[in-house]
Amino acid sequence: KLPPIDGDFYDYDLKLSQEQRDIQMKVRGFMETEIDPIANHYWNKAEFPMEIIPKMAALNICGVAYEGYGCPNLPFLMEGIIAEELARVDVSISTFFGVHSGLAMGSIYLCGSEEQKQEWLPKMQKMEAIGAFGLTEPNVGSGVAGGMETTCQKVGDEWILNGQKKWIGNATFADVIIIWARDVDDNQAKGFLMRKGNPGYKAEKIENKMALRTVQNALITITDCKIPEGDRLQKANSFRDTAKVLRMTRAGVAWQALGCARGAYESALKYTKKREQFGKPIAKFQLIQNHLVEMLANLTAMKAMVFRLSELQDQGLLTDEHASLAKVFCSMRTRDVVSRAREVMGGNGILLEYDVARFVADAEAIYSYEGTKEINSLIVGRAITGYSAFV
Ligand code: FAD
Repeated sequence: KLPPIDGDFYDYDLKLSQEQRDIQMKVRGFMETEIDPIANHYWNKAEFPMEIIPKMAALNICGVAYEGYGCPNLPFLMEGIIAEELARVDVSISTFFGVHSGLAMGSIYLCGSEEQKQEWLPKMQKMEAIGAFGLTEPNVGSGVAGGMETTCQKVGDEWILNGQKKWIGNATFADVIIIWARDVDDNQAKGFLMRKGNPGYKAEKIENKMALRTVQNALITITDCKIPEGDRLQKANSFRDTAKVLRMTRAGVAWQALGCARGAYESALKYTKKREQFGKPIAKFQLIQNHLVEMLANLTAMKAMVFRLSELQDQGLLTDEHASLAKVFCSMRTRDVVSRAREVMGGNGILLEYDVARFVADAEAIYSYEGTKEINSLIVGRAITGYSAFV
């Protein structure tokens, strides 16, 4: 009997409580039965399977670590476990979820007034309203903290917004889009709840992506958009507040990288046991085993790192540098794992239906979003040397 295919070699999952393990298995079951059969189809068509939203809502995993507003209030560790389970089958679904539950709900949770939280979080928790998060711009990506070109200006009780946002996930269909803009009067970043249907808001789908094709990323154009003061995030008064949201979600992206690598490894391992060359399964060849072991070593190192990262987050000790180091390491290691997974599958490794090609492409997006590998390296570099090398 062949040993099981499982990327959790040191049994980190055994550290979970029974309740946590039940949630993990519920999410795994959903991904394997509902998403796995349709993932390649939607990725290929570059469309989002809207019909999965109610089924995903039933898992009760949105805002999993937030307190109140119908959220489960579980440890941040569970946010990580969920990100891993989603990405293990489909990184696009994990990204859709991370934008909604992490970046959008997280902005409201950390920066919203009580009234704003009461209005949005319960319905977002049930996925009756879907969120997006608009920070990056066509001309400003990594340098968005100091160089944001989208502006806001207060005129009476209203704010007038102008500018563009690029790459904004879920923005073509979201009910609420968090828009970050620079106040022309005090030059500070402010956050706004842009409601679907605002006449000055236009979201055009970005076509021809070679990664995360299922995610609906948009180029947003905002023209003299009027937003009432009541829809300005009341506790977002500078980029430091935006950074709080990113710190909270960056740990989740490291977990997502692990999930992506794990999905590719498990598919590749299964394949090597079935595929025969020279009259025997390729898993019997030493060079193939070496690839598999290097993949597993990377997975195991990533898991140890993100597990500890979430423990720090749950203890209130997480810093930007902690989250950035994990994002750097996991996104680099994931690239290595997915490329070896593709390699051991030979030509079939580039065919979607062999369940590795999608991970290879999607790993590229993980590498660059929520702070590129370079920018996260500079955050850690600044912390350990005392010198900022950003400019
Ligand atoms: P640039 O900033 O132009 O960087 C180009 C290269 O230069 C990179 O390699 C970068 O590391 C390097 N570089 C830049 N500055 C320095 C420096 N000082 N030192 C060394 N190297 C440097 N944004 C959102 O707001 N919301 C979303 O929902 C969202 N979803 C996304 C989904 C996808 C699939 C992608 C690809 C992106 C998404 N983004 C989103 C945007 C993402 O966060 C940005 O792409 C990322 O921050 C990098 O910005 P950029 O693409 O403009 O690259």
